[in-house]
Order: sequence, then structure tokens, then C-alpha cells
Amino acid sequence: MEWGKRYKTPPTTCCWCGVEISQDSPVYSLSATIRQDVEVPIEKEAYIIEVAVPKSMDSTQYVSVWAIVTGRESDAKKEGIDLIFMFCSKKCASELKEILQTKIKFR
Ligand SMILES: [Zn+2]
Repeated sequence: MEWGKRYKTPPTTCCWCGVEISQDSPVYSLSATIRQDVEVPIEKEAYIIEVAVPKSMDSTQYVSVWAIVTGRESDAKKEGIDLIFMFCSKKCASELKEILQTKIKFR
């Protein structure tokens, strides 16, 4: 399994369309649980990772999106949330959500 770039500070852009999210605009998020056979290193502190997802439902092309991997002792983790994606709009969130339900791949 290949891993993407990792960083500590979340980017300020929508993970899906790349638009800059200004501080005073609403942020949409999507939380995901990773299947048990996908090995994502869980650490004490949350970190950012890049995930490869198909560009669209029927695409074989992958694009890189960033996501937060929740920390081992975080409240999100206790609720079963492993990954959090951040978006500029509801539209972006629902597009990725649809794709994630079919396929997810880490690199
Ligand atoms: Zn967006």
C-alpha cells in the first residue's frame, strides 16, 4: 500500500474542488469509517493524509483529496469516525460521499 503526503496542518481548501474556504464561510464535513481490512496507521494525534478517490462514479481516473485521520483518543474516534473530509459546499460533500460509497483507495 502506498501512502500519500502527510502533514499536520489541514489545508484551507475544499478537499474536493480545491476552492479556498474563507474563514467566515460555512464548512461542510463528511466523516467516514474505514473498513477493517484497510490499514491506516492510527496515531495519538490527528494528522492529514492524501487519499486517492475516483474522479467520478464511473471513472477509472483517480484524484487526490486530503482528509483528517482522527487521533486515537479523540471524541470522533470514540464515535467510530476514522476520517474527516472538509468541503466548501454541500454539493462537493455529496459528490464525494457518493463516490466513497463505491470505492476508496489509499496511496
Ligand atoms: Zn468544493
